[in-house]
Amino acid sequence: MAVLVFAESLTGSIKKAALEAVTYGNLAAQALGTECIALTIGTAEGADKLGQYGASKVYNVAASDDFDSQVYAAIISKAAEQLGADCVVFAHSSSGKSLAGRVAVRMEAGMASAVISVPTAGNFSVQKGVFSGKGFATYEIKSTNKVLTIAPNTFRPEASGSDVAVETLAIEAPAARVKVKEQSTVEGIVPLPEAELVVSAGRGMKGPENWGMIEEMADILGATTACSRPVADVHWRPHHEHVGQTGVAIRPTLYIAVGISGAIQHLAGVNQSKVIVVINKDPEAPFFKAADYGVVGDLFEVVPRLNEALKKFKSQN
Ligand SMILES: Cc1cc2nc3c(=O)[nH]c(=O)nc-3n(C[C@H](O)[C@H](O)[C@H](O)COP(=O)(O)OP(=O)(O)OC[C@H]3O[C@@H](n4cnc5c(N)ncnc54)[C@H](O)[C@@H]3O)c2cc1C
Repeated sequence: MAVLVFAESLTGSIKKAALEAVTYGNLAAQALGTECIALTIGTAEGADKLGQYGASKVYNVAASDDFDSQVYAAIISKAAEQLGADCVVFAHSSSGKSLAGRVAVRMEAGMASAVISVPTAGNFSVQKGVFSGKGFATYEIKSTNKVLTIAPNTFRPEASGSDVAVETLAIEAPAARVKVKEQSTVEGIVPLPEAELVVSAGRGMKGPENWGMIEEMADILGATTACSRPVADVHWRPHHEHVGQTGVAIRPTLYIAVGISGAIQHLAGVNQSKVIVVINKDPEAPFFKAADYGVVGDLFEVVPRLNEALKKFKSQN
């Protein structure tokens, strides 16, 4: 019995989501009275640091860095068998989501996705948000093997242990069915699913030419930019910035929504944010019901003034 965490890499380096997953795996292992083992596949610089986050052993399987969910799922389920792991943990990232179901089928495991609590010993129950974050459900997994994905930004990575030497695990990867021809990566920003600070804007901005003030705010705060769906649909902003039910679901510490109405489909992807700040000229905008702080006002007046105040605050602190 052990908890096995798949630690993802991005362009060859361990991702923040992997540190969260290992932190969670360690807490789960403590609750279940077992050990947390981390598994990396392909190039994974910084894998030895996973020891600091609670992995007692770190293994690497040599395989192509081109992500193929069928190949990776086969490797992970074989690794779980070889290492005697009955609980496999993934980040709730796009690759984690595509792997968890496949691994659960291979291991005949019960699965819960986007969990927000550590499993209880005995009946192995975990909590997750439901109905777009309006409620919580408790899932009890009764099968011998279990697979979990962890809601992002729920378990902060905390380094307290020490590095662990990475050992090679001999598992033959099946032939890939996917050929990656090209990869493009947005450089220099924290990807939305991992972002702790997000500045987002909607149709209230009137046009793409006005986004300078949103980018300026994001720049001052060190935040990632996002947008509502219609904004991406009319190409004012790139599609990877679209958050909500049909876009990226995020869970930042701070979400600032500028000129966004707060339609249910938008809220579905952002209402797990810890603190929500809304700037909207309509006091009846639905977003105010979900907001922790709200400014009723014209964004073209409020945002430049807020930016100046943020700059001043930053220079004084
Ligand atoms: C199946 C389905 C899935 C969907 N999925 C998503 C999704 O994933 N994400 C998503 O965002 N939407 C989604 N939508 C669309 C969603 O229903 C809303 O239409 C959309 O979120 C509205 O975007 P918005 O708030 O930017 O625009 P609007 O609804 O046009 O709202 C603009 C807001 O800006 C305010 N405003 C205007 N001018 C100013 C100003 N000068 N200063 C301050 N405030 C101002 C207005 O008061 C208003 O509240 C989906 C819809 C469907 C049917």
